[in-house]
Amino acid sequence: MYDLIIIGSGPAGMTAGIYAVRREMKTLIIGKEVGGQLVWASEIENYPGFEKIGSFELINKFKQQTLKSGVEMKDDEVKIIEKNEAGNFILHTNRETFEAKTVIIAMGLSPRRLAVKGELEFNGKGVSYCANCDGPFFKNKRVAVIGGGNSALDAAEVLSKIASQVYLIHRGSSLRAFDSLVAEVRSRENIEVILDSEVHNIEGNDKVEKIIVSNINTKLDREIVLDGVFIEVGRLASTDLVADFVERNEKNQIIVNTKTETKTPGLFAAGDVTDCEFKQITIAMGQATVAALTAYQYLQLKSGEKNIAKNC
Ligand SMILES: Cc1cc2nc3c(=O)[nH]c(=O)nc-3n(C[C@H](O)[C@H](O)[C@H](O)COP(=O)(O)OP(=O)(O)OC[C@H]3O[C@@H](n4cnc5c(N)ncnc54)[C@H](O)[C@@H]3O)c2cc1C
Repeated sequence: MYDLIIIGSGPAGMTAGIYAVRREMKTLIIGKEVGGQLVWASEIENYPGFEKIGSFELINKFKQQTLKSGVEMKDDEVKIIEKNEAGNFILHTNRETFEAKTVIIAMGLSPRRLAVKGELEFNGKGVSYCANCDGPFFKNKRVAVIGGGNSALDAAEVLSKIASQVYLIHRGSSLRAFDSLVAEVRSRENIEVILDSEVHNIEGNDKVEKIIVSNINTKLDREIVLDGVFIEVGRLASTDLVADFVERNEKNQIIVNTKTETKTPGLFAAGDVTDCEFKQITIAMGQATVAALTAYQYLQLKSGEKNIAKNC
């Protein structure tokens, strides 16, 4: 029996773990991939304490501290969650079953892939899923942004201030973003909007060198020589696992209150998987801190503890 099981071993999950054991909660993290989305990043330049740090170095530091603090970690995927008569949570992976008094969902997001040739091969070598994070590596270079929604236009706008040339490539016949954002993008001289077009191939040797773009109507191919491809076709929250226990927004992200509580007592959510508007490491960690401390308060209340710890 665990006091707390955390689902997800990204920045949110590991932070929640570190805080929970400091409250002497018996804590287990079950995660598919240690580091979460940071595995997709290259260098991190906005994590305080490190002017610049490789994402894998940061992941290792998080992991070492988490294990050293006394959190148990398992590389596995939670497949089913149930509640038993005692009000505890039963979590099933393909291999094992666990029981916990409280659960924090820190399952994050996964970038929606474009599913074209070269995308995986050049991931981190010119292909990126985060303009805010990786944009500075393309100063005065030529880049493409794939997508036609708000996040793609946001990325194009950010990149136009860094790169020498930005191609915004969208398969639709019009952009699907806020009018003001569309106007901003249209006004930038170094952004070329290419509509009705799909990227077929991402090509290069050691890194991205060009893409092949095909016009959906004319079927004509165009070769664009560039250094970077930013794929902004959305990120997915895969939260069906907990659908019965939480409220979700239209993006399947879990709706939480300021204490990270869901509609199910004892079940909390933190990090990118929640409906929090901004998706960054420090935000995910902040929410995870709140989740761990709230889970502790919840257990104290449940056990009839009279002197409830004031966490802040
Ligand atoms: C390419 C890229 C670059 C980025 N660069 C930066 C940056 O420079 N600065 C910054 O602040 N932010 C950056 N971000 C955003 C940052 O990575 C996220 O905000 C942060 O990782 C969110 O942490 P999280 O723990 O909430 O979720 P995630 O990092 O998404 O971790 C969630 C974890 O849960 C696991 N999981 C999901 N379902 C299950 C399940 N059923 N069972 C077990 N495990 C499960 C996932 O596999 C994953 O490991 C970047 C993101 C990307 C994609």
